[in-house]
Amino acid sequence: MKKYFIPPTGNFYKANLHCHTTCSDGAMTPEQVKERYMSLGYSVIAYSDHNVMIDHSDLNEENFLALTAYEVDLISRDAHREWFANKLFHLNMISPKPNENRVVSPQINERGEHRDVPSILPPMRYVYNTNFINKLIEAGNSAGYLVTLNHPTWSNLDYNDYKDLKGLWAMEINNGGCYAEGRPDDPNVYTLMLRAMGTKLFAVGTDDNHNNLPQEHPEHHCGQAWINIRAEKLDYDTIFNALKNGDFYSSDGPEIFDCYYDDEGKAVHIKCSPAQRIYVTSSSISATLATPQKLGETITEAVISLENRPIADFIRVTVEDTTRHLAHTNAIWID
Ligand SMILES: [Zn+2]
Ligand SMILES: [Zn+2]
Repeated sequence: MKKYFIPPTGNFYKANLHCHTTCSDGAMTPEQVKERYMSLGYSVIAYSDHNVMIDHSDLNEENFLALTAYEVDLISRDAHREWFANKLFHLNMISPKPNENRVVSPQINERGEHRDVPSILPPMRYVYNTNFINKLIEAGNSAGYLVTLNHPTWSNLDYNDYKDLKGLWAMEINNGGCYAEGRPDDPNVYTLMLRAMGTKLFAVGTDDNHNNLPQEHPEHHCGQAWINIRAEKLDYDTIFNALKNGDFYSSDGPEIFDCYYDDEGKAVHIKCSPAQRIYVTSSSISATLATPQKLGETITEAVISLENRPIADFIRVTVEDTTRHLAHTNAIWID
């Protein structure tokens, strides 16, 4: 039987699921974000301003879809340190309904009082621990949101911080804004989270765009990392369900056109843009890979046999191009 990393049919829609605008601390208006990203070939933007969820569906048109979302940011309060020396938990919440408009922060003010705003949580002091974060994820899940753990590297999170998290839809394998500012993510965190959590978890590349620098500026945020969603059409329900099913891969360069695991032949089959290596990562230590015959050459398809390889639990596929940019499939679990 074929297990698909991405669906075998449908259109590809390029998406940025993490975006800031002038509605919070971003430099561009929602309209400017739309214009900039459409010129870069994107069809989908999740507008995820800090702690405020705004319906931007007035921006929708035939080739553009705005998803309603927000980013909740939690800082561990250690009075002896500045905020940036602490660990952070930032979660993105994407709504199944376009028409939500509310302030959603569970944060407390300087006097330790809960802010008087509607929240997905009952009034409570927020604290930095796994229990609290799990309550927040659970509350997001009950509201039907897709909940992502953002930029674990930038947030100073280590294994102990994420190993007991439950109910996440995805984690950021590549946050383009963090990359542009010199704090790139480590894709191996995805493998460690899968190993620790033992459940389905997807990986997204996003921009977390704040700045408005031109594309030729080395620190520009727009179009650094993305996902390509495969779906039949560009409407809210179809795209939301494709996200929910994991019908996408993430990238900061290479493209994946087709990728599945044949569990009878025990092999990964892939077609992609020119690659200098394609590798399969599993829960076990060893990886297995396909390369061209000679350095400097590239391949655009491969059948990677996993027969007699010590694979366990899950497999995921990475495509590396000659500039060492990467595309990542989501992990699939194998029996
Ligand atoms: Zn953040
Ligand atoms: Zn952000």
